[in-house]
Amino acid sequence: MSYSLPELSYDYSALEPHISARIMELHHSKHHKAYVDGANNALAQMAEARESGNFANINRLEKDLAFHLGGHVNHSIFWTNLAPDAGGTPEGEVAAAVDEFFGSFDAFKAHFQAASLGIQGSGWGVLSWDPVGARLIIQQLFDQQGNTAQGTIPILQLDMWEHAFYLDYQNVKADYVTAFWNIVNWDNVAKRFEAARSNAGASLLV
Ligand code: MN
Repeated sequence: MSYSLPELSYDYSALEPHISARIMELHHSKHHKAYVDGANNALAQMAEARESGNFANINRLEKDLAFHLGGHVNHSIFWTNLAPDAGGTPEGEVAAAVDEFFGSFDAFKAHFQAASLGIQGSGWGVLSWDPVGARLIIQQLFDQQGNTAQGTIPILQLDMWEHAFYLDYQNVKADYVTAFWNIVNWDNVAKRFEAARSNAGASLLV
């Protein structure tokens, strides 16, 4: 199998009271697992199609792969973007870049919150490195795979699917987003930022 469910580096209860153990357990062991299985299944069916030469279902399979692999990637990033006893504000180069590209941390936070809360349907709020403009941008990722530019590299992302918050926050999405800032793992964001900026492959984009 090409994809497997990653272990979390913390217990399901570790993010309480911001995200409950029950949500974490369902979200990781059921939802994320389903994306992993779906991505592997899509690849297997594509291999069968190549073997038989029957590509009648190729459109569905390509969409399935984008959706499920997207879900696997998104959740794998999200778990590491979070940590117990985290939150606060970024430091060092991330702090400087946030100021440079968004004006201030407060302006960045307001923009990221508005983009996350404004998603129509299911999706993610994403802070990304855009290697073409060599800058940070905020994107609304629709479902698991739509509405973002090719080649942008996710640095920090927030799951705005109802499965991510409904048991804890019901319809009050804003409280979930407010709580998110208490568990952002800025050390992980800093590592992702550094890796994204030094990604030589990005120069092949344009
Ligand atoms: Mn999710």
